[in-house]
Amino acid sequence: MVQEYKLFIGGEFKDSSTGEVFEDINPATLESVAMIQVAGAEDVDRAVEAAESGFRIWSRVPAPRRAEVLFRAARILQERKEELAVLMTEEMGKILPETRGDVQEAIDITNYAAGEGRRMFGETTPSELKDKFCMTVLRPIGIVGVITPWNFPIAIPAWKIMPALIAGNAIVFKPASDTPLLALKVIEVLIEAGLPPGVINLVTGPGGTVGKAIVQHPRINAISFTGSLDTGKWIMEECSKTMKRVSLELGGKNPVIVMDDADLELALEGVLWGAFGTTGQRCTATSRLILHEKVKDEFIKRLLAKVKALRLGNGLLPETDIGPLISKAQLEKTEKYVSIGKEEGATLLTGGNRIDPGLPGYFFEPTVFTDVRPEMRIAQEEIFGPVLGILTVSDLEEAIEVANNSKYGLSSAIYTGNIGNAFKAIERIEAGITYINAPTIGAEVHLPFGGVKGTGNGFREAGTDAIREFSEVKAVYIDY
Ligand code: NAD
Repeated sequence: MVQEYKLFIGGEFKDSSTGEVFEDINPATLESVAMIQVAGAEDVDRAVEAAESGFRIWSRVPAPRRAEVLFRAARILQERKEELAVLMTEEMGKILPETRGDVQEAIDITNYAAGEGRRMFGETTPSELKDKFCMTVLRPIGIVGVITPWNFPIAIPAWKIMPALIAGNAIVFKPASDTPLLALKVIEVLIEAGLPPGVINLVTGPGGTVGKAIVQHPRINAISFTGSLDTGKWIMEECSKTMKRVSLELGGKNPVIVMDDADLELALEGVLWGAFGTTGQRCTATSRLILHEKVKDEFIKRLLAKVKALRLGNGLLPETDIGPLISKAQLEKTEKYVSIGKEEGATLLTGGNRIDPGLPGYFFEPTVFTDVRPEMRIAQEEIFGPVLGILTVSDLEEAIEVANNSKYGLSSAIYTGNIGNAFKAIERIEAGITYINAPTIGAEVHLPFGGVKGTGNGFREAGTDAIREFSEVKAVYIDY
């Protein structure tokens, strides 16, 4: 018997109004991890009401005092790091070193946001008039709807929740239905850290009902969303109807350029883990490898040897390199794109099939295509699985043109021994992030995170930008 979990509203765990539950499944073993109550629109209303009373208290707590709650939360996350990492591997399949990294990201952003509590600076500026003083102050937005995906079940919620809290907002939080248990753990940590009732409220259930009710709620002031491009576009359109601020962190089709002057061994490791870490289910995953023709044959030969050596299995075991995909739907989507790649005329070098590593879950072989052309669907559409496409180019100009031939613009990387190439890539690749001689993955909390084009709408998470995302700037004029 697995435990059934309730919603969290107004500082208490409460039964949902629908009386329905859904099953949370381990994607490696297909065993049940938990039963989760399904919220309805009525529960979203109750959560908003609770958030309104939470906001009245929390927004008046001085930011350095709010920070004390966050510093305590970071400490509790640290103490529970291993337990949470194990639970995350069980709930969504990625391997333990990665789930430990996920919890560590949450600890880092929690400490970072707490530190910002003493740096919520406004500005002063000279007035045009005599005996007048001008300044700006940061004010909270109000109630923020936080809607998150499943691939970073603690880090992504923390990247939103902690800056929103330090800025003085209250929250209605809907996690992905594939990882509700880890979201409940974030709530447990914040309760233990002393967050007042109503400041954070959790409503679990489908995006199409619970998420929609949050997005359309007239008394929610802002939405912070991470997920797919299609959902993001719909949310942006809906938010315009109630004039909500909306920040969107969407998909990626992240390129790595490997030049003929690159350190090939370094590039091989970067491409391998960028493409196949977390089973390719990262918004920053490497999905397009843009190879200089002079190193193509050697690079491919060495890459294939490494890819074929990857071991799939239960992410809790130290010998496992790659866990399962998150769901049957994700498995079928990956299979569909392998068929599309073959039909489009790309050459399948390795992988392409489901695999049974002795477990019944959603395992798929690491897959590499070559002879990929920029206009192919496998080079344009986000697969979100362990599929890498190789495109060949003859110089940097062409490499950058291919890299930019995408509707997305999140992460990017170049491997080169030439400083000029590196700076040209920094200047000209259309992406929110460019790595030099490092993989497309591995963002840190002190730099802004986000993308251009179809990846987002201009907001950045992490760093000091996150505080701005969750604050209003008020101009103040004082005559004296
Ligand atoms: P998704 O868009 O299907 O779902 C994301 C969240 O939105 C879930 O909580 C879901 O329940 C909810 N949702 C779905 N429909 C909704 C609706 N109509 N109204 C409100 N909420 C709704 O995405 P996913 O499959 O969970 O996650 C994978 C996607 O997330 C990929 O595209 C990936 O690139 C992207 N992602 C982006 C970043 C980033 O920072 N840019 C980070 C991680 C993942």
